[in-house]
Amino acid sequence: MRALFLSVAVGALGVAGCQTILAPTEEVSDVSGLKEIQREFLVQSQEEYNQVVKDLQPGDTLVLANGEWSDFDLVFVGQGTKERPINLKGETPGGVVLNGQSSLRLAGQHLVVSNLVFKNGYTPRNEVVSFRRDSKTLAFNSRVTNVVIENYNNPDRKQRDTWVAMYGQNNEFDHNHLSGKLNAGPTMIVRLNTEDSQNNNHRIHHNYFGPRPVFGSNGGETFRIGTSAYSLTNSATLVENNYFDRCSGEVEIISNKSGGNIYRGNTFYKSRGTLTLRHGNGTLVENNLFDGGGAPFTGGVRVINAQQTIRNNYFKDLTGRRFSGALVVMNGVPNSPINRYHQVDGAVIEQNTFENVEAIELAEGADAERSAAPVNSTFKNNIVIGRSQRSPFNAYDDVSGISFSDNVSAYSPVSGLKNGFSVSTNPLAEAGKGASGAYGVEKDATGPTWYPKSGAGTAFDSGEEIKVSPGENSLAIAVSDANAGDVLVLAPGYYNEAQIISLQKPLTLKSQSDDPADTVITFERRQLFQLSGDGALKMVGLSVSGEKAPDAVGNAFISTTAKSAGGNHVLKLKNMHFSNFTVNRSFAVVEAVKDTFFDKIYVVDSVFNDLTGAAFKLDTETDDFGFYNVEKLVIENSQFKNVRGGAAVVYRGGRDESTFGPSVVVRNSTFENVGSGEPLLRLHGIQTLELNGNTASGSSPAKFTITTGIPKVSLNENELSDADAFLVTEDLRKRK
Ligand code: CA
Repeated sequence: MRALFLSVAVGALGVAGCQTILAPTEEVSDVSGLKEIQREFLVQSQEEYNQVVKDLQPGDTLVLANGEWSDFDLVFVGQGTKERPINLKGETPGGVVLNGQSSLRLAGQHLVVSNLVFKNGYTPRNEVVSFRRDSKTLAFNSRVTNVVIENYNNPDRKQRDTWVAMYGQNNEFDHNHLSGKLNAGPTMIVRLNTEDSQNNNHRIHHNYFGPRPVFGSNGGETFRIGTSAYSLTNSATLVENNYFDRCSGEVEIISNKSGGNIYRGNTFYKSRGTLTLRHGNGTLVENNLFDGGGAPFTGGVRVINAQQTIRNNYFKDLTGRRFSGALVVMNGVPNSPINRYHQVDGAVIEQNTFENVEAIELAEGADAERSAAPVNSTFKNNIVIGRSQRSPFNAYDDVSGISFSDNVSAYSPVSGLKNGFSVSTNPLAEAGKGASGAYGVEKDATGPTWYPKSGAGTAFDSGEEIKVSPGENSLAIAVSDANAGDVLVLAPGYYNEAQIISLQKPLTLKSQSDDPADTVITFERRQLFQLSGDGALKMVGLSVSGEKAPDAVGNAFISTTAKSAGGNHVLKLKNMHFSNFTVNRSFAVVEAVKDTFFDKIYVVDSVFNDLTGAAFKLDTETDDFGFYNVEKLVIENSQFKNVRGGAAVVYRGGRDESTFGPSVVVRNSTFENVGSGEPLLRLHGIQTLELNGNTASGSSPAKFTITTGIPKVSLNENELSDADAFLVTEDLRKRK
C-alpha cells in the first residue's frame, strides 16, 4: 500500500518526569481502509536506544544512526504481530558498524533485524547474534536479514564462541554474510536444547558463508544443527540456497546432529570436508552443488544414521578421500551410544552426478568398534565419473546392504558393484540418469548485495618494491613503513636489529644479490620477527646469524605471539642460510608458541648449520586436546648440519578425527649430525607424511607416531647411513 509520510513529531513517550527528545517520524498507511500509524525512531546513542526499545509497539521501527557503535550489548525484545512486526535496522545498508565487545540478542515475537555490520571486535558472550535474550526468553517468528559478521574473532583461538545461534521456532535467517572466523566454535548453530526450540521450522537461506580458514583442531565447523544429546529429536530446519565459499575449518563443513532437516540448492565451493549427517535421522540433501575446484581435501556428503536421502546433487572436481570423499557411507557401531556412529539404515542415494571425483567410500571407518555395515539402502540412477581414468569406489567392509541399480559409470566399478552399473564412454549424456534441473546457487544471489564478498587476503609480492640499505635497525624501520604485500629489497651488507619486529601483515624480504653470503642479518633480542594478526613472511636469498642473540634458553629467529590476535600465518623461506644459533640451548629458527597457528611453512633451497634447538619447533600443543601449530610444512632441497634439536618437531595431540592436518613433506634434503638424542624429524599425530629422496648421516632416524585417523604416508628413496631405516613408525591406534 502507498504510504504517506507526515513527519509528525509525537512528543514524549510517556516517561514520567523525563523530557523526551526522541520524536518518531510517523507514517500513515491506508490499508484496507484502515488508518495505521507506523512510527520510526532514529536513535544516536545506546542510552537513547535503551529508552526507546522498552516501549515499542507493533509496526514500530527503531533505526540506529549511521556510524560506529562500540561495546554495544544490544538487546531487542518486543511483541510484534504477523501483519505489524517490530523492526530494528541500521540507518543505511553498511552505514552502521558494531565493534569492540558488541553483540545482539533478540527475543519475543515477529521481530525483524537488518542492516548491521559486526567487525573489529569480538563477542564477550557465547554468541554474536542470538535468537534469545536468556535461556527462558526466546525469539519466535522473527527474522535476521542483511547482517554482516566479518573477522569478528576472539584473539584467543581456543576461546569458543558462535557467531549466530538460532533458538525458538519459525525464525528466518537470510541474505546475511558470515566470513573469516578463526577461533573455536561453529560459525553458526541451530540449538534444540529445549522443547521450544525443537521442530522449529527455521528457514536459513541465501546466506553467504565466506572463507573459514583451517582451525587446526575439532570445533571449526561452519554450521551445525543440534548436538548429539538431542539428535533423535527433529529440528525440521530448511537450509536452502546458501553459498559456502572455502569453508575449510575442519572435516565437517556442516555437522547435522538432528532429524528431519532439508539441505537444498546450496553451493559448496572449494570447501574442505563434507556436509556430515553426523547424528539424527530422516534428513534430505537435494539439488546441491559440491564444486571442489580441485582443491585439497574437498568432499561432498558423509552419511551416517537412518533414512537419509541424497538425491539430485552434483558433485564435481572433489579431491577428498576417506572421511572427505565425494560420498562417504560410514560403518556404524552396533547398539551405538548416542554420541558414536549409528548404523546406516535405509539410505536412498539416487539421481546424483559425480564428475571427476577422487573417492566414493563405502563402509568407511570400518574397525573393531565400527563393525555394522550399511543396510536396506539403495544407490540408483547415479552417474559416476572418477578422476584419473579409474573408478572412485572403495569398499572397506561388506556392502551387500546397499542395492546398486541402473547407474552409469565411466570406468568399471569395483567387482562387487558391477551388476548395478552400465559402463559408458560418455556417461553425462545418458538420459534419465544423474542430476537434472537446477542445483546449487550463484554466489551473487547470496548475502547482502551492498557488502563485498571476501577475497583471499593480501598476497605476497602484490605491493610495491622498496629498497633498503644496510645498517642498524633499518629493517625495523622499513617493515614499519611498508604496506601489506610490499617487497623489501635488501642491498648487500650487514643488517643488525636491536629490537623485536612485530609483523602483522604479509611482507617479502629479499636480497638484491643472488648469493646469500652478501647480505647478513643479526639480531640482539630473543627473537627478530614476531608474527600476529595477518602476519606472514617470505624471505629470499639472505643469511641469518644468531651470533648476537642474548645468552638465553629458547631463542627463535621467527616466532609467533599469543598475546594479540593471531590469524593463520604463512612463512616461505627460499635460498636462505641460517647459522650460529648456538649462544645457549634450544635456539630455533622458527617457533610457534602455544595457541598459535601456521597455515603453511614452505622451505626450499635453504641451509641450516649449527643450531642448538630444532630448525622448526612446532610442538607446543602437547596437552592432547587435538590442537596443533602447523597445517602444512614442506621442506625441499635443503641441508641441515649440526642441528641438535632435530630438523623439525611437529605435534598434533588428541584422538579425534576432525582434522586433515598436519601434513609434512620433506624432499631431496640432507641431514648431517642432526638430532642429539632427538630423531632428525619428530612427527607426532600428523595425517599426511611424504619423505622422498632424503639422505642422512650421523643422525637418529626420523620418528613418526600414529595416534589417530588413517594417515596418508609416502616414503621413497630415503637413506640413513649406519642405520636400518630412515624412519621409525610407532602406531598407538586401537587395532581391528
Ligand atoms: Ca567437528
